[in-house]
Amino acid sequence: MPLRKLYIELTSRCNLDCSMCYRRTWSEREADMAPELFGRIKSQVLGPEGPGTVVLGGIGEPSVSPFFMDALEAFGGRRGRELVVTSNAAEYDDRLVEAVARRVDLLMVSIDGMDGAYGRLRGAPLGTAISTIERINAARARAGLPGSNVGVQFVLSRDNVADAASVVELAADLRAKVVVLSHLLPQTPEQDARVMYGRTADDEAKRLFAELASKAWRRGLSLVLPRLELKTERYCSFIENDAAVVTAGGAVSPCYRLAHAYPEYVLGRRKEVLAHSFGDAARTPLAAVWDGPAYAGFRRTVFSNRYPSCLDCDLADGCDLCRDTSADCHAGTPSCADCPWSRGFTLCP
Ligand code: SF4
Ligand code: SF4
Ligand code: SF4
Repeated sequence: MPLRKLYIELTSRCNLDCSMCYRRTWSEREADMAPELFGRIKSQVLGPEGPGTVVLGGIGEPSVSPFFMDALEAFGGRRGRELVVTSNAAEYDDRLVEAVARRVDLLMVSIDGMDGAYGRLRGAPLGTAISTIERINAARARAGLPGSNVGVQFVLSRDNVADAASVVELAADLRAKVVVLSHLLPQTPEQDARVMYGRTADDEAKRLFAELASKAWRRGLSLVLPRLELKTERYCSFIENDAAVVTAGGAVSPCYRLAHAYPEYVLGRRKEVLAHSFGDAARTPLAAVWDGPAYAGFRRTVFSNRYPSCLDCDLADGCDLCRDTSADCHAGTPSCADCPWSRGFTLCP
């Protein structure tokens, strides 16, 4: 299969400094995508073999990129193609509101709590994100476009669990298309102690998910929930959707998890996630990186589930291979054997 979905990280900079952000544990320098690289990617995406879905996201806030408006114009509003943007919606001027209202199929806005929790986690007022969504809805109505193009992303932990039901209500009031809940991906022992998933499901979380499902159903809202406990089935949405990520620096990674290096806590065990690139988009066409033998073999392995599972391996406490993502005990590289995304704990659009 060709590349069907491309996540483009226009920048790794952000206008917020959220308490749970991956960027807090990075050693790499934050940067915008170089103009030549953006130009190369744009011409390939718009070419006949370009992916059907573009997601402007990554680890960073796409709206602070100098190319954001250009990207909306280039990738939005194409017949049979889809443009998704993930954003904190913190600083949208009127021009941006109009462009997002008209060009974007789905804008996923991060709302992780009501006023108190949102402010603590994001260091910004919730009212700004709400006002941006309302302005986008109003701009769509003025343009005669049907419904809202906004969704809400909620990263759940014990720090904001009390607000989850209110955020679902808020999303319904804002006429959101969808609410996606994801568990926090812990990068410190303190965060690890605050997650709501485990080997077996937590009773409080089970009750909460039942309440959220019923609330969403009553309000006619589409709700996507993560798993609460370890299940045998593994499903990597990046591989299943024939997706790749190109970082602001041009690295072509198979997924968000392997796009940058950071520490990760997997059911209490620390792991160093190492950035893994199958090619450099600044030098090599995306299709050639995608068809390269190492990348194609990796996708086959993950798609057919022929890789080990550290999460239920008796050797995990003594095994050095599960200390980082460089390789697994089947000689697979990089290692997906501990991945919280393929277990359904971490979700993204
Ligand atoms: S908005 Fe996203 S990228 Fe920016 S600091 Fe918060 S979590 Fe990180
Ligand atoms: S790498 Fe293999 S042996 Fe080591 S913990 Fe994972 S599954 Fe077990
Ligand atoms: S299984 Fe996890 S680490 Fe492997 S490609 Fe999918 S998201 Fe990335």
